[in-house]
Formats: sequence, structure tokens, C-alpha cells
Amino acid sequence: MKKYNEKKFLILSFALFFLVMITALLNFVSFSLPSQGDTFRLVFYGLGFTGIFIISLISTSAVGDLKKEIIKLKRLQDFDFLTGCPNWLKFKRDCEKIFTTNQSQHYAMVIFDIDKFKAINDLYGHQEGNELLTAIAEILEKHRKKDELFARMATDNFSILMKYQSYGEFSQRMENLIREIKGYSQKFIVNISMGIYLIGQADELDINTLSDRANMAKRSIKDNSQVSYAFYDESMRQVMILENEIENRMEMALRNNEFEVYLQPKYLFLDEQVIGAEALVRWNDPDRGILPPNDFIPLFEKNGFVKKIDTYMFEEVCKLLKKWKMEKDQLTKMIISVNFSRLHLENMLLPEELLAITSKYHIDPKMIEIELTEGTIFDNDVQMVEIMNHLKDFGFHISIDDFGRAYSSLNTLKNLPADILKLDKAFFSESSDNDRGKKIITSMLNMAKDLDLITVAEGVETQEQVDFLKEKGCDIAQGFFYAKPMNVVEFEAFVNKKLKSV
Ligand code: C2E
Ligand code: CA
Ligand code: CA
Repeated sequence: MKKYNEKKFLILSFALFFLVMITALLNFVSFSLPSQGDTFRLVFYGLGFTGIFIISLISTSAVGDLKKEIIKLKRLQDFDFLTGCPNWLKFKRDCEKIFTTNQSQHYAMVIFDIDKFKAINDLYGHQEGNELLTAIAEILEKHRKKDELFARMATDNFSILMKYQSYGEFSQRMENLIREIKGYSQKFIVNISMGIYLIGQADELDINTLSDRANMAKRSIKDNSQVSYAFYDESMRQVMILENEIENRMEMALRNNEFEVYLQPKYLFLDEQVIGAEALVRWNDPDRGILPPNDFIPLFEKNGFVKKIDTYMFEEVCKLLKKWKMEKDQLTKMIISVNFSRLHLENMLLPEELLAITSKYHIDPKMIEIELTEGTIFDNDVQMVEIMNHLKDFGFHISIDDFGRAYSSLNTLKNLPADILKLDKAFFSESSDNDRGKKIITSMLNMAKDLDLITVAEGVETQEQVDFLKEKGCDIAQGFFYAKPMNVVEFEAFVNKKLKSV
């Protein structure tokens, strides 16, 4: 179509040029030959009018084509190429129109996406993924009522502007819609996460704000396959504000050394002596005081900042070990464990980078234990095993943290080059009181022994647990029963006092 139009314009320009030349020539001849001037002038006017007529015909048709093309381009601008449904820009414009014309109607802004859509594409092919998206657009169209809108915003993200009469009626419609989307495929499971914002009468109707709120609700249930939709509430906004504040402050806080190493002693069951500690981060915020890791580590896991924190903690521990070594302190014998988030496991250079830090402080890697979380390890085992082997070759100890919390694949465990198994505290404390739990712990301890793994029980809180674990041959204890995490000065005093009393 475009080429065709270009051709028309080319012909038009040529015709125009040709006519101008001919008429100019005739005009010139009519004046230079006075005897035949009238005839020439007649031909000149005749040709002139015919020319104008042809040119206007061609240009009318060209303008018509151009108009069609503009309409087509506009359509492309407004509609999604794959599914044919409106895109975000059109959705926004239409929402604004609806809000001005339907002022008495209550509406809800709904946003949803498909859980693990990338995995569907990777496992079943892009064609299958595209078909799913198109089917969703068709389902949305089927469920759409008069004066309702929907759009595909990006990849697998859809938004709907839906009328809202009552909670019961609305929830029923949502559930029907979700059921139909979930039931789309016989080959794979389609789960969706949907956030809903019920637009109040007092709301400023800025579409971005409304969809941000629906998005917050969606994020609150992301990766929870048991729940498909959530309504926005004000606490979600507070969480977002807090998260924004933390993100604005985190880099500066790291530079200001606001992150501190706390140490929780580990005890050998055999003689009840302190043999080391786990380094646990605390954020000593000048305004908010000391914050526990659960207030910021999950966010840092999401935004990747945890990598900087872990490396910082590792280096602080090296500094500490160097200080104890220089002071020829009794603490020289302590083995300190440092937590490493799963995000590090994408970095094949991690072992070299950690070795470079230990070398900088003249620390033997044998004084350091790297704690890797169980759930992490089984996600990505080939690369993981390679990194672990490398760390081990350099002399670091490796422990599997929180064992028993996620899917405990005992089979994979035997292939992992770890030397320590940390039984998850939640698992342990919840189940140790009953017989079944005790049996599980006993068999985990036996299995660890068979695999030559040292066992650490985390979250030991009672004498009864201590007696049971000792009897079953657990090697090391860490828990409030013995000591809570403490700052470095307290830890030094605590251990020195213990050692003196021996
Ligand atoms: P974790 O690695 O499982 O650390 C042990 C947690 O259990 C610590 O919580 C500790 O205070 C707590 N705990 C120890 N004994 C007991 C007990 O007897 N009873 C109970 N109820 N709890 C006990 P904390 O310090 O709040 O740390 C929480 C989590 O934050 C850690 O769990 C770890 O996953 C993460 N974390 C802490 N520091 C770091 C860090 O530097 N890097 C990374 N990536 N994660 C960290
Ligand atoms: Ca840990
Ligand atoms: Ca743990």
C-alpha cells in the first residue's frame, strides 16, 4: 500500500512537471506565431483544463489512500498486534472518557498477569504462549459488559476496567473469569495473580495511580499459587512507602557503616564449648534504631542489594578475624559463618572474589563457613555444585542452611559438596515436641551422619531439645537456649568469660 502511494505521487509530480512544460511551450509559441496564436491559445487552455482535471482526480485518490493508511496506523497505535485487544494508551484514554460520561457508576481497576509465563514460553514454545495470550483476550471480551474496558499492557500483563455493584456480585464475576482462564490449557497449569482496586467516589481518577494500586495488590500475592486475587488496602501503600524509603537510604547506609555484624554463638554438644558463631546482619539506623534482617533482607533480595550486604558482611568478618589473630586472642579459634543469598549463585567468580578478600586480610578460608540456603541449592544445581566445589577447594567450609524448610531432596544432597547441614529452626521447634517430628529429626541426623556431614541444630530453645539432640548425636547447637545474637563487643566479652571459666 505504501509503495503504491509513492508511485501515485511520483506519477503526479511527473504529470505536473510535463503539463507545466507543455503549457509554457504553447504559451510561448502562441505569442511568437501571431497568425496561429488563437489556435495555439485554444489548445493551451484545453490542455490546461484537462491537466487540472487529471491532477485533481489522481490527488483525490492519493489522499483517499493516505487517509486509509493513517486510519490503519492509528489502529496499530491503539491496538495490540498479537491479541487485537486495545493497548494501554487507548485503555487510558477510554477510561478517562468513561469516567466523565458515567459518573454515577462504580468501577474497579483490575490488573493481572500469568504466573511463570516465561516458563510456559520456554517449556512449550512461544507459539503456545501467544495462543494463551490470545485466548485470554477472547475470554476478557466474552466477559466484558457494556461500558467496560480491557487491554494488554505488556507481555502477559492485562488490565480491566470493570463495573462494580456489590462485593458479592463482583467477586462472583472475578471467580468465573479466573476459572475460565485457569481452565484454558490441558497441557499446563495457568495460574494468575490479580490485583483489584475498588475506585472510590473521592478518588482522583488518575489512571496511573489507580493501576499502581491494583498493582500493589497484585504484588502482595505474587508467587502464591494458592491465591489468585487480592483487593488493595491502605497497608499495602504504607509498605510501598516504607520500601521506597529503605531503597532511597540503603546505599548511603552502607557507606555510613550502618550495617553491623551481630554474632550468635554456636556450641559443640560434646563439651558445650563455644566453637564459633553465625554472623547476622543488623541495620543500625540513626532514626529508627536497630532493625532486624527480616525488615530489609527480603526487599534486598528483590532488588539485588543483598549481594552488596553479604559481601560487606563477609569483609567485616574477615576484618574481625584479622583483629583477633593480631591480638592473639583466644577467639582466634572461632569459625564464623556468613549467609550468602541465592543471587550470588549466578556468579561463577564468587569463589575467587571471596578468596581475594580473605587474602587481603591474611585470613585462612578455613576460618569461614559459607551458609547457603537449601531451597536455593536445588534450583540450579549444576552451576551450584561447581561454585561449591570451587569454594571447598579454596578451603572454605560450606553449610546447607534451613534444611527441611523447602522440598528436602535427600537424593540431591548426596551429590552436594557441603560439609555441614543446618536443620531448619522452624521445622525443628515445631516438630520436636511430637513423636513424628522426633522421628524425622532422628532420620535426618542419621542420614547426615551417613553422608559424613556435621549437623547443626538451629533455634534450640529448651533443655528438652538439648537432651534429645545430644542423645541422637547432633554435633552443634545454636539457639536462644545458649545465647542470642549479640554485637561484636558483647561477643568478645561473652566468649572470653566462657573460656576463663573452663
Ligand atoms: P537464618 O540464617 O536462619 O538465621 C538464624 C535466625 O534465627 C536469626 O534470626 C537468629 O536470631 C534466629 N534464631 C537463632 N536462635 C533462635 C532461637 O532459639 N529461637 C528463635 N525463634 N530464633 C532463633 P535473624 O538474625 O533475625 O535473621 C533472620 C534471617 O535473616 C536469617 O535467618 C537469614 O536468612 C537472614 N540474614 C541475616 N543476616 C543475613 C546476611 O548477612 N545475609 C543474608 N543474605 N541473609 C541474612
Ligand atoms: Ca543462616
Ligand atoms: Ca537458618
